[in-house]
Amino acid sequence: MASVLITGGAGFIGSHLTDRFLSEGHDVVGVDNFITGSSSNINHIKSDRYTFVEKDVSGGLDSLDRRFDYVLHFASPASPIDYLKYPVETLLAGSAGTHAALDLAVNNNAVFMIASTSEVYGDPHVHPQPESYWGNVNSVGPRSCYDEAKRYAEAATMAYHRARGLDVRILRIFNTYGPRMRVEDGRAVTNFACQALEGKQVTIYGDGSQTRSFCYISDLVDGIAKLLYSGETDPVNLGNTEETTILQIAETIIGITGSTSEIVFKPLPVDDPKQRQPDISRAREILGWEPKVSLEEGLKYTIKYYISEL
Ligand code: NAD
Ligand code: UDP
Repeated sequence: MASVLITGGAGFIGSHLTDRFLSEGHDVVGVDNFITGSSSNINHIKSDRYTFVEKDVSGGLDSLDRRFDYVLHFASPASPIDYLKYPVETLLAGSAGTHAALDLAVNNNAVFMIASTSEVYGDPHVHPQPESYWGNVNSVGPRSCYDEAKRYAEAATMAYHRARGLDVRILRIFNTYGPRMRVEDGRAVTNFACQALEGKQVTIYGDGSQTRSFCYISDLVDGIAKLLYSGETDPVNLGNTEETTILQIAETIIGITGSTSEIVFKPLPVDDPKQRQPDISRAREILGWEPKVSLEEGLKYTIKYYISEL
């Protein structure tokens, strides 16, 4: 069995990954400073193969006195409202934090994985987005702290691969949702589900014609495990190809919850991408991976979670 380090281990995706790798029999160390994560995401873990370390990855990981076979760098604010609130911390998590995780991986001769994002494509001019597309990113806009940090993290990962022979995985995650995304997270599915369940106004930014393709967490976790164990060192998109407008997803959530909430329209945030859908041909070919959970089904599981949280 292997030893796995997950930075951002108390976050939404990190905590599901922790469950996955523990269930496969591995030892898991989670590192998190709770800037956007929560101990409630990991409190259920009783395994003696699990260790949690409260720590800011941007301050270095030298003090972790353990051997690792896999180093997964997932620590970073990820929701637009979080990275707009913590722009400097976000840049540091993608830069200093990535170097800390890369150095640790080199010292351990471990496989390194970076959690990158569809945001590296910015407001894309190519649709759907294949990994070969270089993107359309505003380097000085409000979202740049996140987009450019992730682009830097990808560049750093490739530099360590080329110059130091590190075995790397670059994972570009498209909008993923599900249980454990915190109620105040601010992303679309969470906001709409909680607003609908509480009978509050459902807030659409812009006219709701912008599109996203939402992937359920269990599908993403399956894809991450497959990518980690593959030998693929070039970037791989993981996401669901079922594209919807934001207005459609709000209406679907209102329908599933049976809510009487009204939809209200608020200003569209600066540089909000107009359309997004992953081209997952590479993941299909290389990993044999395909998302299985439909949007309707995933939303039902997620809404059930928020009913228990509110
Ligand atoms: P999240 O906010 O729930 O999780 C991020 C975790 O990282 C939190 O627990 C936070 O406290 C921790 N963290 C942040 N900075 C840290 C630091 N300096 N030191 C230690 N811990 C730190 O968000 P998430 O959706 O689970 O995202 C996890 C990763 O996946 C992020 O890197 C994000 O950029 C990436 N990602 C997520 C999505 C998505 O749709 N959920 C899409 C693209 C990329
Ligand atoms: N959005 C919205 N209302 C909300 C939250 C988000 O209309 O309460 C929109 C947001 O402007 C974007 C889309 O939903 O166009 C997806 O936003 P999210 O924050 O989930 O992720 P993003 O893809 O922007 O990182």
